[in-house]
Amino acid sequence: MLKCDFCEEESESVVRVAIDENYDRLTERHVKKYACQECSAKKEAARKGQCDPK
Ligand SMILES: [Zn+2]
Repeated sequence: MLKCDFCEEESESVVRVAIDENYDRLTERHVKKYACQECSAKKEAARKGQCDPK
């Protein structure tokens, strides 16, 4: 079981995501983290839906 780096819940299916842009500017340019399906979807939605009111 792997643990999601975002919500810290364990999940059977996490996806590796590369944190880019201004997320970790002060450290590494691309940091690999694991996200569960839910957090991955949220992240993807945030990246695509810049016009989203939320
Ligand atoms: Zn998560």
